[in-house]
Amino acid sequence: MSSEIEQVKVLIIGSGPAGYTAAIYAARAGLNPILYTGGQPGGQLTITTDVENYPGYPDGILGPEMMEDFRKQAERFGTQVRYGLVTKVDFSVSPHKVIVDDQVEIQADTVIISTGASAKWLGIESEERLNGKGVSACAVCDGFFFRGQDVAIVGAGDTACEEASYLANICSKVYMLIRRDEMRASQIMQKRVMNNPKIEILWNTETDEILGENEVEGLRVYNNKTKEKKELKISGFFVAIGHEPNTGIFKGIIDMDENGYIKTIPGSTKTNIEGVFACGDAQDHIYRQAVTAAGTGCMAALDAERYLAAKELV
Ligand code: NDP
Repeated sequence: MSSEIEQVKVLIIGSGPAGYTAAIYAARAGLNPILYTGGQPGGQLTITTDVENYPGYPDGILGPEMMEDFRKQAERFGTQVRYGLVTKVDFSVSPHKVIVDDQVEIQADTVIISTGASAKWLGIESEERLNGKGVSACAVCDGFFFRGQDVAIVGAGDTACEEASYLANICSKVYMLIRRDEMRASQIMQKRVMNNPKIEILWNTETDEILGENEVEGLRVYNNKTKEKKELKISGFFVAIGHEPNTGIFKGIIDMDENGYIKTIPGSTKTNIEGVFACGDAQDHIYRQAVTAAGTGCMAALDAERYLAAKELV
């Protein structure tokens, strides 16, 4: 552990749209924020290709390029962006103690958590190889690229149902692959997909392989009851089997829901701990969009600024 302990007014953990937006606002307010990127600098958008639904980019932009723009904008106003992983926190003391890479200690008057969430994947080779080339974990982000084409979606929860319905509005056909003979989704969502003529539900069905060299061209599935295999011609493959918030290091420290999403006081980014704010997907399992993450990042910076002012720490 290094002997010199750094003091900071605003420490931001995470480098997706939420974290960088919080940094832009905190830096412009003269709070000299420090932002630690985490293990995937730029966050989930760095593993997507075109982003066409973020306002301000009329021709779309590549996810990694957009996150570079976010970073540059945050740095322009004085944010110190550092590569490193926060490995431990102690929020029982004031200022809050944050340990980076198991060795650097920082004392922060306020902490903004923007560690995001990660999509769960099936874990098969072809899924990884064709990620961003027809394989996606976000129908709202990528469905548009497959308009008028046939696609498949895996999952049987509310997200899968919602995304299957979304895809059915723009694609010609949607195969829904469900590994059991029933769905986990709420009744109303189940009804919606079952009544949609463009959605074909394949029960007891699992993915064997996604077909295609450089882009998705088809799918081989198998029925786990009959062991029968069949191939489907599709150009988009969507995985909707849940997300995992990246909040493990805060477990037992901050109030969370049963799935590990950080609880915030409605209408704010305040957590149950004074001076600790949460934004982006780490606290949002519903919207999960870059623009909504950025919006809550802005809120977190404003909440932190007000907190510091009220405590006369600025
Ligand atoms: P869930 O955890 O609810 O569902 C995940 C689904 O993926 C399950 O059907 C599960 O199958 C399936 N699955 C998991 N692993 C695999 C695998 N390896 N292969 C195939 N299928 C797999 O996640 P959601 O993202 O759907 O929902 C998360 C939370 O958000 C829920 O509480 C949900 O209600 C909520 N939500 C609410 C919405 C709304 O109200 N509008 C919209 C979206 C989400 P199995 O059932 O067999 O385990």
